[in-house]
Amino acid sequence: MTELINNFLGENKIDIDFYPHYGVRIRNEEDISAETMFQTALIASDYGRLSSERGGIFVFNETMFMKNERIVSLARDIERGLQNNEFEVYFQPKFDLKLKRFSGAEALLRWHHPERGTILPAAFISLAEQSDLIIQIDYYVLDRVCKHIAEWRDKGLRLLPISVNLSKRTVFSANIADYIEQTIKKHQVSPLLLEIEIVESPSPYDVLYLLSTVKKIKALNISVAIDDFGTGFSSLYRLLAININSIKIDKAFMDGIELINIDEAITKDIISLGQKLRYTVVAEGVETEIQKDYLMAYGCDRAQGYFFSKPLNEQDAIIFAEKFNK
Ligand code: C2E
Ligand code: CA
Ligand code: CA
Repeated sequence: MTELINNFLGENKIDIDFYPHYGVRIRNEEDISAETMFQTALIASDYGRLSSERGGIFVFNETMFMKNERIVSLARDIERGLQNNEFEVYFQPKFDLKLKRFSGAEALLRWHHPERGTILPAAFISLAEQSDLIIQIDYYVLDRVCKHIAEWRDKGLRLLPISVNLSKRTVFSANIADYIEQTIKKHQVSPLLLEIEIVESPSPYDVLYLLSTVKKIKALNISVAIDDFGTGFSSLYRLLAININSIKIDKAFMDGIELINIDEAITKDIISLGQKLRYTVVAEGVETEIQKDYLMAYGCDRAQGYFFSKPLNEQDAIIFAEKFNK
């Protein structure tokens, strides 16, 4: 690229010194999203640009990340936001397709930023996941969710399990099971009211660690679900070894269920597989009645999506629960 551009400049007699800094992100784990690849490659090129070097190829590493101004300011912003309670937990109801009633909810984070307004996780989670900042965020959500459950209990409201998302980094951090145990003790919350959602790790090297963490979480009597099932490189034999409680079929399959035979077939297979393994199968991102009818016909246990409800703030979640759970 440099040569092509320099040739072009030369041929057109344009006199510019051209020393580009290329950012490269090497993909050594299969589960890095395109967005994260791009963001971190940009960070590497920023790092090159700010270094004293005149052009070159810069391969992303974690040191660059922590030195990046954008990241440093985002990290400071998030830390400030956590202290100032700018983060709020929303709840998206899950519907039990067999019992025909709502059976719980998933906790989803929203950031009410003083200048930027409400920010969705997509805008900050993937960056936060590049450092230990995500652990702070996940710890915060766990604490908040337990606090909410305790408050609902004290108000005499009917309680349903709430699931909390943990990032890979959090799952792999030391003491996560201890933190969960301390938090449920602190708020005196029954472990049966909490569920943990994790995404499967695609790297076989991680399996043993993941296995031991999941085992510790399950030993607390807390259920564990595999999120985004069917995307990435879920491998069955590893899932079997992990012995989780439920799988969540990724929204991507819902999008195609009415139109694309493959999506329909995969959804059907995941459901029947889940049933054979005695997992609770949850479908995510259900937006239409037709999708819901497909899932019912295939025997899917639960569904979650805009068709049933968007994620709700605490107040609306309570109103919602009272309306539907008489
Ligand atoms: P996820 O765990 O797969 O959560 C489901 C996402 O799909 C949520 O997006 C939810 O609002 C959205 N959704 C639910 N039903 C529908 C539907 O019918 N149609 C469409 N188009 N979307 C639907 P959200 O809240 O923006 O969260 C995005 C992701 O951010 C989550 O994906 C999760 O991976 C992550 N996330 C959210 N909160 C937390 C958290 O507290 N900790 C961690 N580590 N990650 C979180
Ligand atoms: Ca989830
Ligand atoms: Ca998901």
